[in-house]
Amino acid sequence: MYRSWFECFAGCGEKYSIKEVVYSCRNCGALLQVTHDTAELKKTGADEWKELFNRRKHGNEWPYGGGVWSKKEWVCPEVTPENVVSMYEGESNLFWADRLGKSLGLSNLWIKLCGNSHTGSFKDLGMTVLVSVVKQMISEGKNIRAVACASTGDTSAALAAYCAAAGIMPIVFLPKNKVSIEQLIQPIANGALVVSLKTDFDGCMRLVREITKNDEIYLANSMNSLRIEGQKTVAIEIAQQFDWRAPDVVIIPGGNLGNVSALGKGFLMMEELGLINKRPKIIVAQAKNANPLYRAYKAGFKKFKPIKAKTTIASAIQIGDPVSYEKAVAILRQFDGAVEEATESELVEASVAADKTGMYSCPHTGVALAALFKLVRRGVVGKNSTVVVISTAHGLKFSDFKYKYHLRRLSFKSKNPNMPVEAEPKLDVIRKIIDRRLAKSA
Ligand SMILES: *Cc1c(COP(=O)(O)O)cnc(C)c1O
Repeated sequence: MYRSWFECFAGCGEKYSIKEVVYSCRNCGALLQVTHDTAELKKTGADEWKELFNRRKHGNEWPYGGGVWSKKEWVCPEVTPENVVSMYEGESNLFWADRLGKSLGLSNLWIKLCGNSHTGSFKDLGMTVLVSVVKQMISEGKNIRAVACASTGDTSAALAAYCAAAGIMPIVFLPKNKVSIEQLIQPIANGALVVSLKTDFDGCMRLVREITKNDEIYLANSMNSLRIEGQKTVAIEIAQQFDWRAPDVVIIPGGNLGNVSALGKGFLMMEELGLINKRPKIIVAQAKNANPLYRAYKAGFKKFKPIKAKTTIASAIQIGDPVSYEKAVAILRQFDGAVEEATESELVEASVAADKTGMYSCPHTGVALAALFKLVRRGVVGKNSTVVVISTAHGLKFSDFKYKYHLRRLSFKSKNPNMPVEAEPKLDVIRKIIDRRLAKSA
């Protein structure tokens, strides 16, 4: 029936089973990608696929009810239902940002709230697939003793939760003092071996690649293209939420660049199988302090130079040497792509402005929103276009920067802080405070 396999992304022709422990091409060293038997998938018509995916939504037939496994045939047909490790991730709200959109002159601004998920970020979408394949391999007798990742905080949280649910040992490498308290405590709570290292993400990444050269420890970073297969369902969900139409523009924050590669892969697959008939423009947003893709874009993608990423409040994308650079560029070339950057002040102000219209946005979403604000001002994003901003994590994992912003404790000026008002518990005092605020907002 349905089949998928790893294939060399550079096109040298190498192929491996999904259940082989392999992360890059043994012939040429390039990244791998999962390829599906499209001819087999095409035997089912586009309308039948749409109907199947719509019918499974929120259903309780294991494992098809969640956002990822409702598309199992397109994602990972090799895993048998009893080996699926899922918390019914995905199916996140596509939030109509009515007030924020209007403030920019946009009538069709939508925020895909991927952070409304089991561990609070989109990383759940990919991790459910990876850990399920590991469980499948173990059930077939493969000797895998642990699964390891380097992380800027969200990959480790997702790995720890899914491994804990499956009864597999998770090992996470974190850059010391570079993840939020919430992100640090997540894998600790789930029983992972947490190794805190005096280096940055790129340093952790180099070490985990060495550790996982031993086949008994499986690598869970997004250079493992199983994760991309789960993450690509975000594109399918977006189209589904628009009654099987693609939006005009999608803006996504990028660090290691796995997620933008996945987003594009999802749209291409829907196009190939006839579910949509146009592609959105895809825009990657980076923090100015960690902007290797932006720099390469400005140079026409002629060559890539890794950089040393500087500290950014958008800590999950503080990456200077993105693993999936080649895949991301290939996607941007096919999607009329662009790259924009945001300074620390811009990303924080954008996040704060969004929150004032009812969101609670993480700083990475702030980067994407800041990019949107600039592109609307420049006319690159038209006022009548349907725009989707990918919100990658839940804001509650990153409250510290909001706290510091509103209490004016950041190293730069807060333009619109909302300080709590301390007052005597007396009615007349409180009335005056309320009157003053009402007068100000009138
Ligand atoms: C991982 C992550 C990103 C970046 O995704 P990449 O695939 O590394 O580009 C952005 N935002 C958040 C919150 C993340 O956890």
